Order: sequence, then C-alpha cells, then structure tokens
Amino acid sequence: MKILNIQAHPDDAECHCGGTLAKYSERGDEIYYLVCTKGNRGTCDRNLDIEKLAEIRKKETLESAKVLGVKDVFFLDGEDGFLCPTPELRGKIMQVIRKVKPEMVMTLDPFLPYEIHPDHRTVGILAAEAVVFACFPHFYPEHLKEGIQPHFVRELYFYRTREPNYYEDVTLYMERKKRACYCHESQVIMGGTQRRIATGDPRSIEELGRETFDELAVRISERFGKQIGVKYAEGFKKFEVRAGHLVLEEDDRTG
Ligand SMILES: [Zn+2]
Repeated sequence: MKILNIQAHPDDAECHCGGTLAKYSERGDEIYYLVCTKGNRGTCDRNLDIEKLAEIRKKETLESAKVLGVKDVFFLDGEDGFLCPTPELRGKIMQVIRKVKPEMVMTLDPFLPYEIHPDHRTVGILAAEAVVFACFPHFYPEHLKEGIQPHFVRELYFYRTREPNYYEDVTLYMERKKRACYCHESQVIMGGTQRRIATGDPRSIEELGRETFDELAVRISERFGKQIGVKYAEGFKKFEVRAGHLVLEEDDRTG
C-alpha cells in the first residue's frame, strides 16, 4: 500500500505516528512524506539565521525519514507559522497527492480542541480537502495539463488526535520512534534549552532535550496503549473517503 504523510513541520509525525510508520514500512508499505513548511522559526536562538535553520531541518527530516523507512520526501517550503488555508496551498498539496497516488493519507487532526498553531490547523484541513477532491478533474485542471491525473484516496487518518477510533500497537517500534525523534537535533536543542531555563537542571542541553522528546513520545504512546491494553500504541481518527466527503467507520477497530 502507498501512504502519504502530510505534515506542517519537519518533526510533526515522529512523536504521534513514528511507531506506526516504522511498523508499516517494515510490513512493506511505500511511505512518502510531504512537509509543508520549512520549520524555519523553530528555535530560541536569535542569532540563528532562519534560512540556515531551514537547511538544517531539511537534512534532519531526511535522516528521520530514513530511520522510519520513508521512501521519498516532498517539501513545499512554506513559511513556518504563517500558513493560511488558501486555494493555492490546497492545490499544491493536491498536486503531490495526485503524483504519489496513495491509498492512504495521514495528517494532523485540524479539529484537535484548542489547536492554536495555524500551520497545524491549515495543513490538517487543506490535506483533508485535497484528499476528498483529488478525484475530481475540474479541481485544479492545470495538473492534467502537466500529465498528473486525478486520484481517488481510500482512507484518511488524522494523528495528534483526542478522539481516536483506530489504534496501532507500536510496543515493538518505540526504540525506532525515539531514534527518529532524535534526528531532529535542532528541536532536541530547543527542548533542552527550554528545560534548562525552566528547571535549572545542570545536565547537558542535548540530554535534557532527548529526555523532553522521550517523555512526549512515551506519554502519548502510553496513553493510547492503555486504551487498548498494550504497552505502547498510537491513536488515529480514521475515515473512509468518498468523493467530496469523509465517512466515519461505525465500528472501532484495533490493528
Ligand atoms: Zn508542528
């Protein structure tokens, strides 16, 4: 199966669905990433040039993707923190969907309560819209002229969700998930810096940063694990796709 993971920032996927991606790539699925922003404001260092950070984060994304078995990565190079739900951005996302032709798309849950990050809301909503409209040839017909055909996506999974109806047991994939998180070294440093300021803990910034990532990844996976009686799991809001809309499956299933 082909799977396209559409994320706002280079490190959005790892904590929330990194275990699932590792599991799916191991079972033979072809996984692709689409990263919509450069992540170029993800630092507390005022002396760090934001275009330099964009380059660093691109490299980190490719390293993390390798750890999780991702086949290819697409970048839209949007400005971190400034994405808006425009028809143009929806078209760019749809173009990648039509090129990759995935059976399943995974993205951030735009309906997460109190989701304040505009990039998360924007990418979640536009990716879902692009998924349900990608099969209609009169949406963005310029793609046809480029030889890119309409495509029908079968399933949509929202991650970073509070209302899961589908789970993956990732107990065997936690170490790989953590390794993928650590690839985002710029974010490890940012997390460690924030922890040092908040707690005064004298350990190295890198150690503090990795601990911050570990706690987040473990906390999320333990919470979902408890809901299905395993040590670690990841939860998703899963929909079947119909032309123009999403259908919620009636029965909750575990995988
Ligand atoms: Zn993000």
